[in-house]
Amino acid sequence: MSQKKEKMNSKKCHERMCICCGQMKEKGELLRIVKTKDGDILIDKTGKLNGRGAYMCNDAECIKKAESKKTLERSFKCKIPDGTYEMLNKEFAVET
Ligand SMILES: [Zn+2]
Repeated sequence: MSQKKEKMNSKKCHERMCICCGQMKEKGELLRIVKTKDGDILIDKTGKLNGRGAYMCNDAECIKKAESKKTLERSFKCKIPDGTYEMLNKEFAVET
């Protein structure tokens, strides 16, 4: 187990970078996408799923960009199953 120690003395500790546009945002403004150890790509609404996580803006434009640039593929270093971006888009459509 190799854990990176993060000091919690910074106000920025809740900020994460969008893998698509590179903007730093509060965790609450981003969607967490997780690759499980089985290789499934899931949207982690609770923030508690185990696996490798990536953050993306809660923004349909960012999803579109991610899809065309294959940002998730690069981030997770694997093939993203068909329908994943579609799933993301639906997720974004629900949240306003
Ligand atoms: Zn973004």
